[in-house]
Amino acid sequence: MIKCMAVNAGSSSIKYKLFEMPEEKVICEGLVERIGHEDAHFRIKYNGTKHDDYLPIMDHKVGVKLILEALIKDGIVKSYDEIKAVGHRVVQGGKYFSKSAYFNEDTEEKITKLIPLDPLHAPAHLMGFHAFKEVLPEAVTIAVFDTAFHQSMAPEDYLYPIPYEYTEKYDCRRYGAHGTSHQYLANKAIKDYFHGDASKRIITLHLGSGASLCAIKDGKCVATSMGLTPLGGVMMGTRCGDIDPSVYYYLVEKTGKSSAEIYDELNKKSGFLGVSGISNDTRDVLSAAEKGDERAMNSIRLWARRVADFVGSYTVRLGGVDMIIFSAGITENSPTFRKFILDDISEALKIKVDWAKNDLLIGKEGEITAEGSQVRVLVIPTDEEVMIARDCFSAFEGKL
Ligand code: AMP
Repeated sequence: MIKCMAVNAGSSSIKYKLFEMPEEKVICEGLVERIGHEDAHFRIKYNGTKHDDYLPIMDHKVGVKLILEALIKDGIVKSYDEIKAVGHRVVQGGKYFSKSAYFNEDTEEKITKLIPLDPLHAPAHLMGFHAFKEVLPEAVTIAVFDTAFHQSMAPEDYLYPIPYEYTEKYDCRRYGAHGTSHQYLANKAIKDYFHGDASKRIITLHLGSGASLCAIKDGKCVATSMGLTPLGGVMMGTRCGDIDPSVYYYLVEKTGKSSAEIYDELNKKSGFLGVSGISNDTRDVLSAAEKGDERAMNSIRLWARRVADFVGSYTVRLGGVDMIIFSAGITENSPTFRKFILDDISEALKIKVDWAKNDLLIGKEGEITAEGSQVRVLVIPTDEEVMIARDCFSAFEGKL
């Protein structure tokens, strides 16, 4: 039995979860938000207790020190030696990583090379890594990549139809993201619902404020919706997803804004927020739509249509589909948002929904299809952290 820490360091935040492995028991979890500010937020939750502090946390190093000090102060660990492994979530692994890797000099060098592909997250991941390494130098440290699961895609699934020299010279291709989540969902479905039969065709829908779909066969990704970066694919909270590339050029020409400004708007001011003009939070958008706001309703229908289009195309790609899995913030928690999608796909895929079951499943796992449905539809809350902890445990045992 060992303790493993799963870490998700963002540009101004660090989320963490401490596990006892291999039992997969969560010992504590929390976050540090607004790093770089005088009123940063520190939270730790354990044993049903929760502490929140608001204090200056000017960099990641200070944030990590606070987390580790709290573990001792609250009696969660007696000494840091108890934490045998630390796993860092890394968004972009590019072409280099098809599985998790020990966080050594070579891994750091490759992540540094990938900064141009992910300027927002990659430097934060490296800061998180160094901050933990300083206090826990003996712990086995690994990097767990969001892109790794998608490295099994065939060239026709990851290439872009652009001049080939750009693909070669700049590694400009589809990498996808949320791979850890899609893999967790597929593994769970194969183990718990298909008695270990990995040959089943599964489409996983990770639909939260960031959103992506994945087509899975033989437990491997064959296609995924996000692209070179997490901006591609379906519409999201603030990201536009796939659009005609001309829109970008057209808007730069029309508005007189720089390409960087328009790019920023496609990332941060589009999606639900852009179309509804209300919020990136789907709860607010739905409540406006229910009060008759037309743009809010259009944004929901557009989102559902985009998701349905991908489900259709992945069904063809897989030669049929045995199971569809809803996950992440929106479709783990909202029967209504699931219904918008199901209304768009059920007829073609001969899905028979048990609407009473759909209504009951909020934030928990279960099946929502009725007897005789050609495709099984499930809701499974995702758990990226436990995947990180599992790889930490394998790495500790030298079996990564
Ligand atoms: P995630 O990125 O997976 O954490 O998802 C977070 C998002 O899920 C939030 O920003 C909301 O838009 C959405 N969400 C969470 N709960 C609900 C709910 N009950 N109904 C609709 N949307 C929800």
